[in-house]
Amino acid sequence: TQGTTPLTIVIVGHVDHGKSTLVGRLIHDTGSMPDGKLEAIKAMSEKRGMPFEWAFLLDAFQAERDQGITIDTTQIQFKTAKRPYLIIDAPGHKEFLKNMITGAAAASAALLVIDAVDGVQEQSRRHGYLLHLLGIRQVAVVVNKMDMAGYGEARFRAVEGEIRRYLGSIGVTPSHVVPVSAREGDNIVDRSAAMPWYQGPTVTQALDLCAMPPEAVELPLRLPVQDVYKFDQRRIIAGRIESGTLKVGDTLLFSPSNKTARVASIEAWGAGAPVRQIEAGKSVGITLDEQIFVERGQIVSHVDSAPFESNVFRARIFWLGHAPLARGKQYKMKLATGEFPVEVQQVETVIDVADLAAGQTSQVERNGVAEIVLRSRSVLAVDEFTGNPRTGRFVLVESYDIVGGGIISMQGYPDQRAQ
Ligand code: GDP
Repeated sequence: TQGTTPLTIVIVGHVDHGKSTLVGRLIHDTGSMPDGKLEAIKAMSEKRGMPFEWAFLLDAFQAERDQGITIDTTQIQFKTAKRPYLIIDAPGHKEFLKNMITGAAAASAALLVIDAVDGVQEQSRRHGYLLHLLGIRQVAVVVNKMDMAGYGEARFRAVEGEIRRYLGSIGVTPSHVVPVSAREGDNIVDRSAAMPWYQGPTVTQALDLCAMPPEAVELPLRLPVQDVYKFDQRRIIAGRIESGTLKVGDTLLFSPSNKTARVASIEAWGAGAPVRQIEAGKSVGITLDEQIFVERGQIVSHVDSAPFESNVFRARIFWLGHAPLARGKQYKMKLATGEFPVEVQQVETVIDVADLAAGQTSQVERNGVAEIVLRSRSVLAVDEFTGNPRTGRFVLVESYDIVGGGIISMQGYPDQRAQ
């Protein structure tokens, strides 16, 4: 059975290693190109006296999609028997990092393209690092231009070993490393007879093995408290369920106060009568079986799937402020419905967006990306972005302006709940 929700992927790699050619091939070899289009493009390049490039498909595809619509991310779709895919913008486009870090775009899987002859280059490593930075865990490596390496296994294994070692050093485990020739169409959709020594999946098979991100309703319950209203003797806790489901009788945990109480009733806005159960995406008002202290900004969960609690977090941020972000500076952090004062405890790595080089400087300039450590005055409840994007993302505010967006990574900072 074919799914209808596309899996969003990003294709990265050193310039000229064959990303556009691979995309052209994916569109064509999966039959996602309108009939006659390829012939038209071939005829056109012949007329202009240019040798045909698979990358031309991408341009043609793009020109068609863009007619009349302005979109700031490049979006290309293709389909396998299993499901549709959406390729989102690759690094090089200035909006890409911002969209990924602020959550405007999210990729669930990535292909890292490496030229078999050129091998692993500095830019290949930077793009690999970027995937780690963005928390993309499903990565397949495509070793391209195998035709130029005589389809030889020895060369492939050397490149495979090198990229596996590098990715391993930054905590990324590729699901597969696939030898291909994008130009010749080897191992893109169908297995190539030219590389009988390779037993693994083709590119589309590797993609089809990736998991779809879980639906919000499948994730643990997260209800950030928006408001607490008093009606007669009752207190109603209101908010939007960001993930999971909530039932009458459930024992709820309020973080970071760590108080618990049971759900006495649930009212869904617009439902008219009380409901027994409600799920992600809905706004609710709930009453509890006992009076406990609840305030805006707390996060409601079930007891056995609580968010992290900490006053120090590692975060990956995209900086939009005119004044640079620096160690010791204080901002207001807005996470779900809460607003908390935070201080920059450390700037760990600053990524140069132009060339994605990771360096050490003490401050982050406008449009910069960095890994930083934030400290809040009190203990906060948060999620890892990779675990729950809705409560693992925040913005930084300085005198009413949004100056940055970021995602939480607890790596290296233990959950303080038990302490
Ligand atoms: P990008 O910059 O990563 O998008 O790379 P392109 O897709 O534009 O490819 C760069 C050059 O490499 C082009 O001239 C392609 O024709 C060539 N190329 C791409 N894939 C292959 C391949 O599998 N085999 C060979 N021989 N050339 C390729």
